[in-house]
Amino acid sequence: MSQSPDLLTPYDQFNFEVPEDHFPKMGMSSRAAQALVLSDEWTDTNPMLNMSSFVTTYAEPEARSVAHQNMFKNYIDHDMYPQLFAMETRMVKWLHELWNGPKGVEPYGTATVGSSEACMLAGLAHKWNWRQRRQKEGKDASRPNMVTGGNVQIVWKKFLRYFDVEPRIVPLKPGQYTLTAEELDKYVDENTIAVVAIAGQTFTGEDDDIQGIHDWLDAYEKKTGISIPMHIDGASGGFVNPFLYPDYKWDFRLPRVQSINASGHKYGLTPPGLGWVVFRERKIFNEDLVFYVNYLGGEMPTATLNFSRNSMQVAVQYYQFLRLGFEGYKRIMQRTLDNAVALRQRLVDSGYFTIMNDTQRIPVVAVTLDKKVKKFSEFDVSNKVREKGWVLSAYQMPPNAESVNSLRVVVRPHINHNVSMKLADDIINACKWLEQHGGTATPPKLHGHADEKSTAAKC
Ligand SMILES: *Cc1c(COP(=O)(O)O)cnc(C)c1O
Repeated sequence: MSQSPDLLTPYDQFNFEVPEDHFPKMGMSSRAAQALVLSDEWTDTNPMLNMSSFVTTYAEPEARSVAHQNMFKNYIDHDMYPQLFAMETRMVKWLHELWNGPKGVEPYGTATVGSSEACMLAGLAHKWNWRQRRQKEGKDASRPNMVTGGNVQIVWKKFLRYFDVEPRIVPLKPGQYTLTAEELDKYVDENTIAVVAIAGQTFTGEDDDIQGIHDWLDAYEKKTGISIPMHIDGASGGFVNPFLYPDYKWDFRLPRVQSINASGHKYGLTPPGLGWVVFRERKIFNEDLVFYVNYLGGEMPTATLNFSRNSMQVAVQYYQFLRLGFEGYKRIMQRTLDNAVALRQRLVDSGYFTIMNDTQRIPVVAVTLDKKVKKFSEFDVSNKVREKGWVLSAYQMPPNAESVNSLRVVVRPHINHNVSMKLADDIINACKWLEQHGGTATPPKLHGHADEKSTAAKC
């Protein structure tokens, strides 16, 4: 561009060239840079219509202002920002109470970048505890394994591979998409560091049979003397179950449950970048994993995988807890669930779909095309509604349920009744169109390890 910068109009600015393979040379005005960034993004998905994601996409102006005011604070600098750290500590106590932790113990937990980091920390704690126990007993401690269902989120497969723990993954079956106690005897042994059960799984939204697994492990201990802890992956369920199902025991009320994670940025209603892990009590988080760092006023423990991170998510989570309170979360989750149930009913009434999740705890609608539908697949439906802007996940289910495809809609609180009915109609109209014209889509082929042939659930 050779005009004087003062004479450049927005149309000139949009047309600045973005170099593909060398670092930008001269820089440009802030207006021009903003115009280019924003125009580059125009064709991306509208996050509000991304129904394949659990992650929060709405915040009130006041929450945005809290975020804005905290965005340049590095969360790890506890000595500079002790009040932010105090918020985290307080919220850990609140979550320990919300998840029915035992009274009179020292709760321990931490804010993380997401549930992934939270799961890794919990997995490490169980690995360390198991190893110490084995060494104390003079037994071999070189072959830890972890038992989960085939419905686990990708993070657990990462944990197992990155931290060298043998995966013992109980396969699913068509029509049975959760982990139950049924086949545990083939998977659990003295080297099992923990059994991970999910509250609100990514594929169908269902909970594993947490109580059944717990009771089976009790009986197993009676029989063998081997005590195996449970971790609950409550990435989604952790912020739904306590509000909607207070009598349902999925949490620390079950003595074997020693750690729970949840994603603040899912139904915790903060913007992306926040997870939580909470331990039943301080001593479960193995002391060997804690580093002590010198701070101005003394020593501070640190036990996260990441060092620097943004503070805004912690501040916004604190805002949301204060703003909504138990009653607010309860109201929001109930309404969101009602909208999910209405959406799913309309889909089933259309005759095209069958429900995959009979128990509906979190607001996830998981359906599969009815057997009589021959001309198109769930992948075609997902492609077709994309024309209306919606993003819906179509999945091939994990082993051994690969014969089943799922179409999944994650209903989040910003989707009101009208919008969910509009989505249902768009899905049904896509089916009608496909019935006439036929579809062609097939499940995407994935690269990867032999232990991981299935789709990794997005979140
Ligand atoms: C989303 C999700 C995760 C990963 O959490 P992030 O917050 O995205 O890191 C783990 N487990 C389950 C069940 C999830 O839904």
